[in-house]
Amino acid sequence: MGRSEGRLAGKVALITGAARGQGEAEARLFAAEGAKVVIADVLSEAGQEIAADLGDDALFAHLDVTDEQRWVAVIDAAVERFGGVDVLVNNAGIFRPGGVADQTLADYHAVIGVNQVGCFLGMRAVVPAMRTRGGGAIVNISSVSGIYGVPNVISYVASKFAIRGMTRAAAVELGPDGIRVNAVFPGPVATDMLNPGKPGIVPDGLPPLPLGRAARPEELANVVCFLASDDSSFCTGGEFVVDGGRTAGPMSPSYAVQSALESAALESAQ
Ligand code: NAD
Repeated sequence: MGRSEGRLAGKVALITGAARGQGEAEARLFAAEGAKVVIADVLSEAGQEIAADLGDDALFAHLDVTDEQRWVAVIDAAVERFGGVDVLVNNAGIFRPGGVADQTLADYHAVIGVNQVGCFLGMRAVVPAMRTRGGGAIVNISSVSGIYGVPNVISYVASKFAIRGMTRAAAVELGPDGIRVNAVFPGPVATDMLNPGKPGIVPDGLPPLPLGRAARPEELANVVCFLASDDSSFCTGGEFVVDGGRTAGPMSPSYAVQSALESAALESAQ
């Protein structure tokens, strides 16, 4: 597909955490849909390989999303190479297990730093460039852990709930500038984060969910692409759940048994 065709033709997109997993899938789809793509990550080798694969339409930029000075430099590099920035996907994220009573402060700060502060720094850095272009689209990647409580991952849950709030606040604030801000809430996705060192292989013991499987990264990329494109031109402050039905309702056998008993009791009462 040529640069003048596709759902993102003419747009410049910066994607964090794009050296693997969902970010990589987004970078590849965005390029196929006509965008110029900045692949930003701390993983230089993997990021450079993807950029080389995508050719002249891609640029790798080393970025630790917690580094406010690097953010400014990377936006400047995108503007210099491609003329501006229209789309930011705040996708970079880390996960450190630990409950309320046992998570170390260092791990708590690390997760909040990348997932929450990184998202804030990204939005702050990109807004001037988007204002220059007369608008833009920001997509923040939260999680179903930003919708309900999950035990033993207190920092991750806190950071993903924060993304939900920041997305709404930014949408209200930036709407008049033509900048749309939406959040995506993935359920389990078969990446390194779900199964370290074995992306694509779903670990045992995943709780059941209605669609019965984890997502492929491309299934998230499709929704993110929609939110980055003009197809979603009236969406802002939105919350897009891509979770195979995880948050639709509980699926535990005890719940099913209880529902059946309640239905039987209702029938006999009629
Ligand atoms: P992943 O671990 O494969 O990818 C995360 C990427 O972020 C990696 O490339 C990593 O190098 C990068 N990254 C980490 N710290 C960084 C930093 N400080 N600066 C820049 N880049 C950094 O996992 P993924 O599943 O592709 O995760 C993408 C997003 O989706 C994350 O925000 C994650 O929290 C979220 N998410 C994942 C799942 C899942 O089951 N995999 C579920 C819900 C939400």
